[in-house]
Amino acid sequence: MLSNKYIELEEKLGAHNYHPLDVVIEKAKDVWVWDIEGNKYLDCLSAYSALNQGHCHPKIYKAMIEQAKKLTLTSRAFRNDKLPLLYKKLNQLTGFDKFLPMNSGAEAVETAIKAARKWGYNVKGVQQEKAEIIVGSGNFHGRTTTIISFSDDPDSKGNYGPYTPGFKIAEYGNAESFKNNITENTVAILLEPIQGEGGVIIPPEGFLKSIENICKEHNILLIVDEIQSGLGRSGKLFAYEYEDVKPDMVIIGKALGGGFYPVSGVLGTNETLGVFEPGTHGSTFGGNPLAAAVAMAALDVIIDENLVERSFELGEYLLKKLKKIKSEKIKEIRGKGLWIGLELNEPARPYVIKLKEKGILVKDTHETIIRIAPPLTAKKKHLNMLAKKIKDVLKN
Ligand SMILES: *Cc1c(COP(=O)(O)O)cnc(C)c1O
Repeated sequence: MLSNKYIELEEKLGAHNYHPLDVVIEKAKDVWVWDIEGNKYLDCLSAYSALNQGHCHPKIYKAMIEQAKKLTLTSRAFRNDKLPLLYKKLNQLTGFDKFLPMNSGAEAVETAIKAARKWGYNVKGVQQEKAEIIVGSGNFHGRTTTIISFSDDPDSKGNYGPYTPGFKIAEYGNAESFKNNITENTVAILLEPIQGEGGVIIPPEGFLKSIENICKEHNILLIVDEIQSGLGRSGKLFAYEYEDVKPDMVIIGKALGGGFYPVSGVLGTNETLGVFEPGTHGSTFGGNPLAAAVAMAALDVIIDENLVERSFELGEYLLKKLKKIKSEKIKEIRGKGLWIGLELNEPARPYVIKLKEKGILVKDTHETIIRIAPPLTAKKKHLNMLAKKIKDVLKN
């Protein structure tokens, strides 16, 4: 079957909630993917940073297969011999007291929202039904009805009402704006330290630190969504480390599953995650032994292969190279770690298609921005090739 046959089937039989590039990928290894015609491409999206470890990493594959032979699912009605070990690994790696496992990123965000509200009622003493959470403009935290209720993107939000109340939107990057939205009912501020879907939007230096201070001053929880920015993508294990803050909860996902399996969850303190009692929250698949085995291997690869340090160093290298490109089509190039937003003065999609024809897969976001996020296993030679092809398409 040729590419156009697959595309036809997909267009006819699938819902059109995505607008994919017309490349039908059949196999992949590390930074490379191949389409069914055998063309080879450098993956510079990494499934929105879910593939920080590269495609089909042999160590994660091995962990998954070995676990799949033995035990895959118990439900949390019974215990299993893998989940506690994942807890231990995350505790040692991050210093957080507790972890609550989920599957998709959006579910983990929902979990943090529930924890914050419950903390508000049980600990802070907010009046029932009054809890408020302040979020940033331009945010992306997932696709559930509650999460899109506090999105300001008309595509994400339009025609999905009635919306969940209890959220206020402050101006991202402006700590004063967050402060001005605080009331006695505010239980949490929820933020991405760098906005990924927004187009790799990096807030002014000191923003997150100011938010942390505001939270402390007003007895408000700081919840950081590191689903995309975390686990090495920004050049630190977590992007909040750039500002030396200590959030009350950190939401992780994407690369936690190493590209093999959906694994997400919330890291938190005893005080925040301690609000949950048996029966008050859960997930059939959350914390299953297969997920735990995959997540442990995914974390091991990040540590053993120094992917955090690589992201920091190679990110600086690539950013410098891209900044040398002189073209009136470029509005701004910004980045942290191997995570770069290339903003154009015109629509980005035609350049994304040209890059595809040259063997580079990237994705446009918000019309004019190309997000560049190769696997953190990429080598200098791959980045040189990427920079050269970007230069070529922007020069022509
Ligand atoms: C991708 C993403 C989510 C949602 O994760 P899903 O697994 O798609 O539900 C939430 N927050 C951020 C910052 C993300 O990048």
